[in-house]
Amino acid sequence: MKTSLRARDGMPCPYQGSDDGPLEGPVDLSQLTAREKQVLLLLGGGPSNGELSRRLKISERTVKAHISRILIKTGQSSRLQAAMVSALYHHQLCPSPNCRWSPGAGSPSHDVVSAA
Ligand SMILES: [Zn+2]
Repeated sequence: MKTSLRARDGMPCPYQGSDDGPLEGPVDLSQLTAREKQVLLLLGGGPSNGELSRRLKISERTVKAHISRILIKTGQSSRLQAAMVSALYHHQLCPSPNCRWSPGAGSPSHDVVSAA
C-alpha cells in the first residue's frame, strides 16, 4: 500500500480539545521596527543566526536580540513560528514591488487579500 501525505481516514485532528493549533492570523506586525521587519522577512528562508549576521552585517548577539523582540512583539514563542509568520506575511514585509512571492506579481501560490 502506498503511503500518502493525506491524514488517514478517521484520524482525529491532533489539536482537537487543546488550546494548541497550527499558526493562524491575524498577527500584528505594526509594532516592529523597520530593522525587525527586515530580520523577520529573512527568517522565512530559514537562515542560521550566523547567516543573518553576515547578511545584515550585524553581530549574532544583535541578531538574537532582534529575534527576541520580534517574538515578543508578534506574540510567537519560537523562531520556527516567526519563520511561519514571515512566510504567511511576506506580502506585508517585502519592500519589493516586483516580488514573486507577493500578490499581484503573478504568483499563483498567493491568494491573499491585499493589506494596503
Ligand atoms: Zn518578496
